[in-house]
Amino acid sequence: MPDNDFRKSLPENRLEKQFKDSKPLYTESEAVIEANRCLNCYDAPCISACPTGIDIPAFIKKIASGNIRGSAKVIFEANMLGASTARVCPVDELCVGACVYNDFNHSPIQIGRLQQYAVEKAKAEEKTGKKLFFPTDQNREKNVAFIGAGPASLACAAYLALEGVKAVIFNKDDLPGGLNTTAVAPYKFQTEDTLNEVEWILNHGVELRTGVEIGKDIQFDQLVEDYDAVFIGIGMGKSNCLNLPGGDCSDVFGAIELIQRIKNEGDFQIPKEVKSAVIIGGGNTAIDIARELAMLGVEDVKMVYRRSRNEMSGYEHELAGASHYGVRLVDNAIPVEVICDNGKLKSLRVKLTMSDETFEMPCDWVVEAIGQAKHAVDISPDIEVDNMGRVIVDSVTKQTGNPNVYAGGDCINGGKEVVNAAADGREAAFHMLKSWGIKPSLHGDNYFKSVNRSS
Ligand code: SF4
Repeated sequence: MPDNDFRKSLPENRLEKQFKDSKPLYTESEAVIEANRCLNCYDAPCISACPTGIDIPAFIKKIASGNIRGSAKVIFEANMLGASTARVCPVDELCVGACVYNDFNHSPIQIGRLQQYAVEKAKAEEKTGKKLFFPTDQNREKNVAFIGAGPASLACAAYLALEGVKAVIFNKDDLPGGLNTTAVAPYKFQTEDTLNEVEWILNHGVELRTGVEIGKDIQFDQLVEDYDAVFIGIGMGKSNCLNLPGGDCSDVFGAIELIQRIKNEGDFQIPKEVKSAVIIGGGNTAIDIARELAMLGVEDVKMVYRRSRNEMSGYEHELAGASHYGVRLVDNAIPVEVICDNGKLKSLRVKLTMSDETFEMPCDWVVEAIGQAKHAVDISPDIEVDNMGRVIVDSVTKQTGNPNVYAGGDCINGGKEVVNAAADGREAAFHMLKSWGIKPSLHGDNYFKSVNRSS
């Protein structure tokens, strides 16, 4: 499929459109008032807490002085995915959580909202003026192939394209964007928004080829031979499943697949007879799907987690957000059996870890959110993975055992945030340039002094 035609693969009638934006764009006065609260701290802790190391006080100061384009430029120099990360970053755990105002029991600076304001305003202005942020007219006679069109690949390809490197992304699915497209909660960021960000990156000279499967339509070894470097940014695979007795019932879903249907499948609806759902898992994906189902009108949504609430990997503030919509948590409980009657789900049987007592939780749907499969080995048997299935890379350069093959994002970290993938992509790009003796025009010599901060 040629560039930009991917939009045709996105159906109009998507359930995600029912969700309201949980953080609408600031007005100008809201943004300026919030920006003026920033103390412009020396050695600002908010910068160290950002995996991409954005100069946060600098971009905030530019908002306060009305220089929106300059503000967005500061963001993009560190993170070309500034639009999506402003929306999907767990800011309470990162920059906002590190803001010094927290130490004085004052409301921290709303860095994500300000980033969103600068980036969205500046992009809208850019569209009217048709003037890109960065010039891209050089030709370096180098080319790089990308496997997967997720955040890591997009970030890496963007920084290379800015330096005149030919960047070609191969994506198996018709819709690019990776987990931003398939997995981000629609009240944070919708697929339409992701595709806008992808299109903006492509406009800087990145080529996208969708519907191309590595190993089937084109061989990995061929890419290694034809390109100066290959970047693996394949993310993760399908939802893992517990293989519980009765788990093959059609009312049992994988969380990722269900979120994807809500976001991108035309005419998908939650049947009216589905009044209750039990979500298995304690991570952020479990919390997301629980909240989504509750927001879509499922009356009784419970999460079942095998350990205690304190041991959950999902963020406290996300759980609090889900509780606001009525989601309840049953902790220290292990699912043992899915009970069906004539193919219709009746309940989930769980065992309490404290007493070994079992009981049934009646429900219409069960959703498993217990992690995702790693599928790096599907690309090539030559790619070395660890015992968790993650691609092994040098932590600084993101090079695999083959110095011309790089990797980043979920396939190397096992599933972190979009901002971590963006940081990996940028670091890989700059190390590729360094290996070819090209000084990055955006950061020059200073770049390599700071590049290890996020490693
Ligand atoms: Fe501004 Fe808070 Fe960062 Fe200080 S820590 S520079 S107040 S955002």
